[in-house]
Formats: sequence, C-alpha cells, structure tokens
Amino acid sequence: MSTGTDAASTSEATSPSAYRMLIGEDWVDAVSGETIEVITPVDRTRVIGTVPRARAQDADRAVAAARAAQPGWAALPFTERQRALLRIADDLEDVVEELAALTALDTGNAIRTQARPEAQLLVRAFRYFAGLAGEVKGVTLPVGADELSLTRRLPVGVVAGILPWNSPLMIAAFKVPAALVTGNAVVLKAAEDAPTTILELAAVCARHLPAGVLGVLTGYGPEVGQALVEHPGVDKVSFTGSTATGAGVAATAGERLAQVSLELGGKSPCIVFPDADTDDVVEQVLLATRFARQGQSCTSGSRLFLHEDIHDSFLEKLVAKVSQLRVGDPREESTDIGCIINQRQWDRVQSFIDEGLATEGVRVAYDGRERLTVGEPGFYHAPMILTQVDNGWRIAREEIFGPVLSVLRWREQDEVVAMANDSHYGLAAFVFARDVGMALGTAQRIESGWVQVNQGGAQQVGQSYGGMKGSGQGRELSLEGMLEGFTQIQQINARW
Ligand code: NAD
Repeated sequence: MSTGTDAASTSEATSPSAYRMLIGEDWVDAVSGETIEVITPVDRTRVIGTVPRARAQDADRAVAAARAAQPGWAALPFTERQRALLRIADDLEDVVEELAALTALDTGNAIRTQARPEAQLLVRAFRYFAGLAGEVKGVTLPVGADELSLTRRLPVGVVAGILPWNSPLMIAAFKVPAALVTGNAVVLKAAEDAPTTILELAAVCARHLPAGVLGVLTGYGPEVGQALVEHPGVDKVSFTGSTATGAGVAATAGERLAQVSLELGGKSPCIVFPDADTDDVVEQVLLATRFARQGQSCTSGSRLFLHEDIHDSFLEKLVAKVSQLRVGDPREESTDIGCIINQRQWDRVQSFIDEGLATEGVRVAYDGRERLTVGEPGFYHAPMILTQVDNGWRIAREEIFGPVLSVLRWREQDEVVAMANDSHYGLAAFVFARDVGMALGTAQRIESGWVQVNQGGAQQVGQSYGGMKGSGQGRELSLEGMLEGFTQIQQINARW
C-alpha cells in the first residue's frame, strides 16, 4: 500500500510512518506543520504513525480542491464514474489483507472476526454502488402533448464525511462510493484515534479519480471537523459518531442550511421469546452483542430481554458460549475479541462496570476478567454479563461501547415492547421467536431503524441503514439512501 508516508506503512513497520493527507493531487502536511501521534491500542507505548493535525486552513484547501473538481466529475457519463469505482474495488481487493491487518493494528478490532470482514465489506460496497451508477435517474410526468415535466437527480456538491474510530473502513464504505457515484466530491475527516486505514483507502482511490474528487483530512474533531461543518463550501455533512457530537454538528450545519445526515449511537434491545431457547439463537444473540468488536458497535444488542420462562436456561447456554471466546491480540487469527481503542474509552467502560456491579440487586452472570490472560500494555476488557438489571439503570440506558451486556426479564409482549422502546435511542433491534408471526409482529412495533428477526449479524450491502430518535437521521448503504442522501432533485417544466 502507498500513501504519502516517509516509512513503509505496513502493520509490521518498526518505525512509525509519517502519514500525510490527500488534498487535490498532493499528499501534504498540515499548514501548521503540527502532527498527532497514532498509538496502537495493542500497545499504549507504541506509536505506529504520525498524521497531520489539520485545522481550518487545511479544511479550506481541501474544500477548494473538492469544489474545483466536482463539476467535471459530475459531468462525466455515469459509466465513467462506474468504471472508476469498479477499478477502485479491484485494487482494494488486492490489498484487502493489508487493510485488514492495519485495521487490527489501529482500531484493535480482531482480524478474523472483525477487521477482515470490514475490509471485505468496503470492496463489496464499491462494487454495489458502481452497479447503481445508472439508477441516478429522473422521472417524467405526463402533463400534455406539448409539455414536459421532468426531474433530474443532481449531486449535492461537496460532501464532508466525518468518520468514527470503531470501524473506519466500514463507515467509509457507507459514505464514499455512494457519494462519488452520484457525482459529488468528498472530503473525509478521519477519526483521530484510527486514521491510517482511511489514508490507505484514499491512496487506492486517488489512482482512479480525478484530483480533488476525494480528499482526506486528519486531525481533531473540534478543530478540523468543526471547520468542515462550518465551511460554506461544504454542501452536505454525512456524520457518523456519538449522539452528543452529532447534535452539535447538526446545529452548526443547520445554521447555514447545509444538508446533514447523522448515524449516531444506540442501546439496542434484543428480545428472546420463550420458544427460542436454542443453541442457534444463542449463537445469533452472541453476534448481536457485538462482543467480537469489544462491544464498540453502535448496533450492539446491549440490552438482552429474556422471557422469564427461559431466562435461566438461555443464560446458562449464553455464558457457556461467551466463556469460550478468546480475548487477545487483534492481529492473531485465534483471537475472538480484540482491544478497546484507548485509555479514555477503557476507563469509561470500567466505570460502567463498576457502577453496574455496585448497583443493589444486580447479579453477575459472567465476569470474563477471571479468564483474561492479556492486559497492559494493551487496552483489553473481557466480556461482562449482568442480570436482574432494571431498564431504568444507567447500564441499561446509556451506550457503554464496551463488552458489557445487561440482561432483563420480561413476561408479556406489551411489556417487553414498551421496555424496548423506552430509550432515547432507536438504531437497531433483534427479535428471536420460532413463531414467525409473533417475531414479525413484535419487530414492527419496535422503534428502531433496523430490526433483525432471528439473526444477529446480517448486515447486507444494499440494505437501508440508519437510526430513529436519538440514533440519527437519514439512511446509508442502499439505493434509497444514496438517492436521498447524496442527490437533490431539479424539476424542469417545459412547454412548446
Ligand atoms: P465522536 O462523536 O467522538 O467522533 C466522531 C467523529 O466526529 C470523529 O472523527 C471526531 O473527530 C469528529 N468530531 C468530534 N467533534 C466534532 C465537531 N465539533 N465537529 C465535527 N466533527 C467532530 O464519536 P467516536 O467516539 O469517534 O465514535 C463512537 C460513537 O460513534 C459511538 O457513539 C457510536 O455509537 C457512534 N457510531 C455510530 C455508528 C452508526 O452508524 N450509527 C457507527 C459507528 C459509530
């Protein structure tokens, strides 16, 4: 792989890579010359690279390059954009293992269970959206023999894509190919904690795109992220991150009437009916917990609602499965669960664990710390399952973003639906019942943007992805999301 680095930027590079950002056709440092050290969560003492600390001036340069490039990109026949995306997909596929290895190193996501599937999804997303290039169509209205009423789907213009650290390539896959194929230029802001794979993605894209069509900035959110959101040259902000930051981004962008889409946090319910007390459902519930991503997933089914008739037997099976998971170095194939991104997040997860354990009435169903064989200098947390949890407790209301599962009992369907919906979040949900009518009936009552029935990890390229309530607005990853999120309609009425 090749970005504008001074050192080889492979996962095993011994000296830190000095990464640069992509602006126009150049790999550049920040105007200020400042840099940020990127530390691997595998080893808090190891700097794997430095990235430029971009600020407002750098945002100005990237947006100017994007604005200059966008009209020409949009004017190309759609087949040209399609071809560029397909070539990018082919080149990404060639380096998918390197991208996976780098993901493991800079996010801490385990290579087999997470990092590789994330890199593979990126390839699929580029191919999928390339295939949709010809679907950016308008419609005509039959108004009369000497009149035409027609619409065109135009790009929004310059899109700022703001990314989180938990699965950078996957979230970039939701935004970049859809925005590009519809004729937009994109300026990505990589997360400060995990920027390296995004720079490698840009290096591949740059080989097949006109200069300026894709730019990447690195730096801190309140500095360069905020500068992009405020920038009058940015037509749309596509943000993925926490609900608190997203609300601020929406307010700032709203002041200047820029378009915004928000993919935010979650506290997703996972409901198991009494007829679903099976090993297969246990496997799927385990996928839903996102323990394999250390629980650092916005769609984690972190509130498990077990019907009281099967509560104990289901929990016993789940605990047996969880106890077989190996927490370890994310670069090793045998690892199921990698490490937490940084000290701040590790401490935050720990504080939720401490609070949960100290709450009167809680019971510990599983405490993986007893089996944890890895630790410093990496940021490792073992899975923790707490039961007898009340839906009003903070561990059942707040997004922990760690491998902590809160288990709640229920008896009546109305009661569990009410508890599931008693949340300011509404991103994902999971319903397990052998009675499919019961499962689908329940699924339709859940206030979440994505409900899975009898499965826990079924994200498909092409499905509409996004949240309700405090989990966000707008949809990505689908044809509808692409059209709604990255195009605008121009109506033309003509008479002769
Ligand atoms: P975060 O909100 O702290 O940061 C996200 C991004 O926003 C980063 O690139 C950050 O630098 C930037 N940012 C911070 N302040 C900003 C500002 N004032 N203006 C512009 N940009 C700013 O989130 P995080 O800690 O990186 O990620 C974890 C959160 O992301 C969790 O809450 C998780 O649920 C959420 N998330 C949501 C989805 C989804 O699709 N719904 C996916 C992944 C992560």
